Amino acid sequence: MQFKEVVGQPEIKTKLIGMVSSGKIPHAMMLLGPEGNGNLPLALALAQYVQCEDKQENDSCGACSSCIKNQKFIHPDVHFTFPVVSKKSTEPPISADYITEWRSELASNPYMNSNDWLQSIGAENRQGNITVRECHEIIRGMSMKTYESAYKIQIIWLAEFLKEAGNTLLKVIEEPPANTIFILVVENVEMILNTIISRTQLIKVNAIDDVDVKEALLKRFEMAEDAGRRIARISDGNFNAALSYAEGEENANDKLLHRWLVCCFNLKMKNTTTNSANLMEWVEEISKIGRENQKIFLKYALFFLRECSLISIHGASEKLEGEELRVASGLSSKLDPNQLASASKILNLLYYHVERNGNPKILFISNSFKLASVFKNEEVFV
Ligand SMILES: [Zn+2]
Repeated sequence: MQFKEVVGQPEIKTKLIGMVSSGKIPHAMMLLGPEGNGNLPLALALAQYVQCEDKQENDSCGACSSCIKNQKFIHPDVHFTFPVVSKKSTEPPISADYITEWRSELASNPYMNSNDWLQSIGAENRQGNITVRECHEIIRGMSMKTYESAYKIQIIWLAEFLKEAGNTLLKVIEEPPANTIFILVVENVEMILNTIISRTQLIKVNAIDDVDVKEALLKRFEMAEDAGRRIARISDGNFNAALSYAEGEENANDKLLHRWLVCCFNLKMKNTTTNSANLMEWVEEISKIGRENQKIFLKYALFFLRECSLISIHGASEKLEGEELRVASGLSSKLDPNQLASASKILNLLYYHVERNGNPKILFISNSFKLASVFKNEEVFV
């Protein structure tokens, strides 16, 4: 991947390129920042730049044999570690078990999150893991000579999945073999062992600017400027979310959500035949749009509730405009922050079950009643 393919983040790109040009590449660095900000694409672009045989001022050349291998994620001196689940074997899983899937997912969306990745390898309800066995693989890989380049690069995507296994890597991160670069890609630093944090150079990467998200969307999709601007606004600097919105039929989600909230509020008032019929009609509709679009809808709903909380607490939302802002202001005047938080909890759990193939009709009906109870200020167990 070249830096020019990475969305936004101009300061970080300059910083990373500067490190290479000045010959001051830390032997272990941690790219830290929120989901969808391009941490992993930046790590890929950095690896390609380090190994490029014809470095340009601001980017790798994209044409030398090293670049070509890096662009296919098959460079023998770039090693990848990422969370995996067990295949049907007795040995703990390692990243190499899934390298084909990994290359294919990277090619299709390097902005993916851990859930996207784990679902793509059939994890279903299982938690991903970076195992001690994988750590030994890393140590073995780093102790070998380089094949083609001056540097061996080890990218650990979502190093938070190392958990205690991270202890196995302490020595190699502190005193790595010559010409070795560790790039840890991290979203939640609280989940990283302090002993690892202290051994790496921290590089904070913020969410992407809205204007960069918008421009990237307009380049990639045929969409009106306004639509791009709106998606950028509601994606909140998360390009993975922006891609989902752009690929789904995003524009209808605000109306779909508004109708659902009205249905739940009506259930709160009275569970009449008309109210139930309206809800059933809505549930039929949401059930037909398919799982991926249901997930996009729920992501939007979660974003919307968060903005309602901001309105409720601070009196303003920076992300909503027009009709969306009007509905959000109305909702936040009816619900207090605790109710909004409970509603978000319900939707998060609903997202989890939708993702794992739950029956959409049953899920959306039962959760509509849970939301109605929250709106009634009844205690709901979620
Ligand atoms: Zn090159």
